[in-house]
Amino acid sequence: MNAEQPTIPRIWVFVEQQEHQVHPVSWELLGAAKRLSADLPGSVVEAVLPGHQVADLAPQAFQYGAARIYLIDNPVLEIYRNLPYAVAVSQLVKEHRPEIFLIGATTLGRDLAGSIATRVGTGLTADCTELSIDPANHILAATRPTFGGNLMATILCRRHRPQMATVRPRVLPMPDPAPDATGEVVTVPFDMREEDVPVKRLRLIRAEEQPNIEYAEVIVAGGRGMGGPEGFALLQELADALGGMVAASRPVVDAGWMDASRQVGQTGKTVRPKLYIAAGISGAVQHRVGMSGADVILAINTDPNAPIFQIATMGIVGDLYEVIPALIRQVKGQSY
Ligand code: FAD
Repeated sequence: MNAEQPTIPRIWVFVEQQEHQVHPVSWELLGAAKRLSADLPGSVVEAVLPGHQVADLAPQAFQYGAARIYLIDNPVLEIYRNLPYAVAVSQLVKEHRPEIFLIGATTLGRDLAGSIATRVGTGLTADCTELSIDPANHILAATRPTFGGNLMATILCRRHRPQMATVRPRVLPMPDPAPDATGEVVTVPFDMREEDVPVKRLRLIRAEEQPNIEYAEVIVAGGRGMGGPEGFALLQELADALGGMVAASRPVVDAGWMDASRQVGQTGKTVRPKLYIAAGISGAVQHRVGMSGADVILAINTDPNAPIFQIATMGIVGDLYEVIPALIRQVKGQSY
C-alpha cells in the first residue's frame, strides 16, 4: 500500500486472545501506543480484536488505553488460523489505513504479522526492543538488536503504511489500567465461511504446561558457573523460598541442564521481575537484553570483573555454592 496522508494518524494494537484469555503483551503494546501517540500530533490509539463472542473483552482494551476497538466477530475466528485472521485484519487495515500497527511477538503474533504485512504490501520490523516517533518526520523508529545482539538497528518504514512492528512480551512495561476508561466498539462485518478455510482443527492436544517465566515476580537464574545440572535443585530451593521461578542462561539450556522454556535472553525469553538473582552468569549482552528490565538485580559471581556487575543493583563476589545456601538460610529465617 502506498503512503497517502491519512486524515487521522491511527496507532493500532492487535489484541491477541485465545480461549477468551487476552495475552498481556497486548496491554503492554497499548501502553507503548499511548506513549507514541503523545509524540504523533492528532493521533488516536485503537485496538483490533478478532475472535468469536469476545465483545466482553473490549472494556479491558479501553482501560489500557484504546479509544476505539474494532471487533471482528465470526465463528471462523474462534480459534487462531492464519488465513481467516490474516484476511480479516488485512481487510480492516486496507479500509482504515492506520499509520502504525503493533503486534505481540508471540507464536501467534509472529505468524500473523508477516501475513498481514505481505497482504497489505508494507514492511515489518520484528522483535523490537524500543519504539519511538522520529521527531523530524513523525515516522515510527523501531529499534531491534542485530548482528547477534552486538548492534542495535533503528528501522524506519518511510514509504509504506502501516508501519508494522512486533514486540516480545515483557520488553515493554505493563501500563496501569484506568478502571473508568470507556471507548467506542466498532463491529466489523466479516463474512468468511468455514468452507472457505482449508485448515481444520481435528482435535486439541494441549502442550504440557510450560513455566511462564516472563511474568514471574522473582527469578533465580543459573549460568554455566553452576557447573552441572545438580546445582539447580539449590536454585529451586531458593526460588521456592522466595515464591519465584528458576531460569537459566543459554549454555545451560544448550547443555541440557534446563529446558529451553526457561532460557532468558535474546534467543530466549524477556523477563521483568521485581528481583532477578543471577548466579554464575557472566552477563553477556545476549543475556542482558532479556533481563535488564528487572527492578532489582542481584549478581553472584566469583569473577569481580564479570560484566553482570555493571548492571547489577547488588553484587556478591563469591562462590555461588557458598552464597546460595546462605541466602536460603536467611530467607527461611534460619541462623548460621
Ligand atoms: P559464561 O559466560 O561461561 O559465564 C559463567 C560465569 O560463571 C562466569 O562469569 C564465571 O566467573 C562464573 N562462575 C563460575 N563458577 C562460579 C561459581 N562457583 N560461583 C559463582 N560464579 C561462578 N545467552 C543467553 O544467556 N541467552 C540468550 O538468549 C542468548 N542468545 C544468544 C544469541 C546469539 C546470536 C549468540 C551469539 C549468543 C547468545 N547467547 C545467549 C550466549 C551469550 O553470548 C553467552 O555466551 C552466554 O550468555 C553466557 O552464559 P553464562 O553467563 O551462563 O556462561
